[in-house]
Amino acid sequence: MIIVSNRLPVTAKQEEGTVQFVPSVGGLATGLRSVHAAGEGLWVGWPGIAADALRGKETAVCRDLADVHCVPVFLTARDVRDYYGGFSNRTVWPLFHYFTQHATYDRGHWDAYRRVNERFAAATAEVARPGDTVWVQDYHLMLVPALLRARLPDVRIGFFLHIPFPSYEVFRLLPWRREILEGLLGADLVGFHTHDYVGHFLDAVHALLGRGHASGEVDGGERPVRADAFPMGIDYDRFRTAAEAPAARREAGRIRRHVGDRKVILSVDRLDYTKGVLERLEAFDLFLAENPAWRERVTLIFLLVPSRTRVEEYRDLKRQIDERVGRINGRHGSVGWVPIWYLYRSVPFERLVALYRAADVALVTPLRDGMNLVAKEYVASQVDGDGVLVLSEFAGAAQELGEALLVNPNDVPGLARAIGEALELPKRERVERMRRMQERVAAHTVEAWAADFLAELGARGRPEHVPQPLEREAADRLAAAYTKAESRLLLLDYDGTLVPFAPTPAQARPDRELRTLLSRLAEGSRNEVVIVSGRDRETLAAWLGDLDVGLVAEHGAWVRERGGAWRATVSRDAAWKARVRPLLERYLRRTPGAILEEKAFALAWHFRRAEPYASRLRVPELREELRDLAAQLALHVLEGDHVIEVKAGPFHKGLAAARWLEREWGFVLAMGDDRTDEDLFASLPAGCWTIKVGGSRSRAAYRLPGPPDVRALLARLAGGRR
Ligand code: UDP
Repeated sequence: MIIVSNRLPVTAKQEEGTVQFVPSVGGLATGLRSVHAAGEGLWVGWPGIAADALRGKETAVCRDLADVHCVPVFLTARDVRDYYGGFSNRTVWPLFHYFTQHATYDRGHWDAYRRVNERFAAATAEVARPGDTVWVQDYHLMLVPALLRARLPDVRIGFFLHIPFPSYEVFRLLPWRREILEGLLGADLVGFHTHDYVGHFLDAVHALLGRGHASGEVDGGERPVRADAFPMGIDYDRFRTAAEAPAARREAGRIRRHVGDRKVILSVDRLDYTKGVLERLEAFDLFLAENPAWRERVTLIFLLVPSRTRVEEYRDLKRQIDERVGRINGRHGSVGWVPIWYLYRSVPFERLVALYRAADVALVTPLRDGMNLVAKEYVASQVDGDGVLVLSEFAGAAQELGEALLVNPNDVPGLARAIGEALELPKRERVERMRRMQERVAAHTVEAWAADFLAELGARGRPEHVPQPLEREAADRLAAAYTKAESRLLLLDYDGTLVPFAPTPAQARPDRELRTLLSRLAEGSRNEVVIVSGRDRETLAAWLGDLDVGLVAEHGAWVRERGGAWRATVSRDAAWKARVRPLLERYLRRTPGAILEEKAFALAWHFRRAEPYASRLRVPELREELRDLAAQLALHVLEGDHVIEVKAGPFHKGLAAARWLEREWGFVLAMGDDRTDEDLFASLPAGCWTIKVGGSRSRAAYRLPGPPDVRALLARLAGGRR
């Protein structure tokens, strides 16, 4: 098990010429430390100090880190500036948190990001062995999964994003949006904090790469990729134990004595524009102005942890916060009462827990936050079971902590009202809400989070669900069986198998290479090649009709044997179309980008190029309406890759193939990429070679990544003995 993250769990510090290591702070480091400590695993990351400063000491640093199972990736000061300070924190961070006005799109930063991601992938590939599990963390390393996959096809790769994944409309602003998605899709499992983020990611994959999904499993591509939500928790026991310890009780008592009999409101954040600090201060200001009765009876302890202080936006924000705190204290304070106690520093763990424990109310109101651990830490630290959490609905944590007072942090008057409500909530209700939140935070710990993610990752690629890759040994056996056989049947799907998907069906016509390949295969007297397609007869005949191959059109409604004429496998009047067509046309008007294809026995509604939000909404509705109509008219509704097809039955690719399978064959090969090909795979007797093209689950025994690999295999067969 190898963890890969921007920072190692220890940070190097230069002290008087020697390098010392201290534990890194932050939720990610603490959360994964237990996973790392549990096994034989390694952790790959940056030790937190620029390589320039370590010159000459690299070997010693590597050795010291090896003792704690860490592998350093050395970054120069320039890398840190452009990859970390630049692309990660000035492009991805603001954009993914919906602060588009702060996002910069700098090609130099992007180049650095790519370069450093390469370096992380290379360092990981050096220590990983086939069969290992690699878990890549966070937005700094979104290209690593694919880069690592290219080097090590046989490792299991997980990726977790600790920040939000924005809605498609925001994500698409990024000039390098496709590269980022392709990087992430190198993983077997991509995890997010909430289902919203999963949905946004899948939308982006659909809209930008044309790959849909079935229950979070991304279609197409070389391997199955799953996206799912795993809300991250905290080390509950650590906070609980610390909050119960005498030290925390004493410290909390000391704080309370200083505050007197006033109520304590606590606010804890890293300095960041996503945290909604100015809005929160404004709300506190308004609360005091509107509720004079609460003056001198409440204290806001306002802990701000310094962060990214070299970035201009952060320095500006710090100035504004300072001013606002000063203004509020000046405006409302009195001799003997300072409304806001402002601490601009990081505090040690025990003091933080004491603050949590002492606080009557925690104000956690980020404008946008992937999860927010402070909210959960506050809940865990309420050892007396009494305390009120005011939580922004834009924090990932809000999806789990529904008993908090949920607020929209942009609504300053609403936030001011929530402060009053929190201070006046009756004890019974406070305790009841807190109890339920504590149960949940105690159950969904960071250990459980990691275990859930790793269990799901471990379950990926189980042989009963997923065909085996057709690797050298299997491909050799296939070729040998082909060569030996006196008679061979090749059943080949067209779109997605022999040719890649094109923006519109009409653009996917066969190129010269493909036509030559098919005619060479068909030439052999021992071979029978059949193209088994969902397309209409006219197109197949126009594109491939001059070759000496058999054709199956419309998923088996029509067959044309070698040298023969088209024959319908079903005879039905087309009156049903008059009933179904208006429905499909209505959905066509309501789904921009969808197209309707008319075939002799079927109507196909394609949504590959449809606007993703529209199709997400309309496809289930259409499916529903079609189900009723199909039941009335005894029709079949069939779903392929981005297509819903309605047809008169009964026919499918498997039934169509039956007429060829009646004969004796020494070798049968079937290849296809979508759900309609599963009927074909299912109808074949044992001993046939079945190959699924692309990633998802299948009945086929083997899989190949895409059309180029299919062609390479066919070329190998065509090149052998005839
Ligand atoms: N924290 C800290 N030092 C402090 C105050 C807070 O290390 O002085 C920790 C806090 O315990 C929490 C983390 O910083 O675990 C903040 O995590 P959160 O998810 O709330 O926000 P992020 O900083 O990741 O955006």
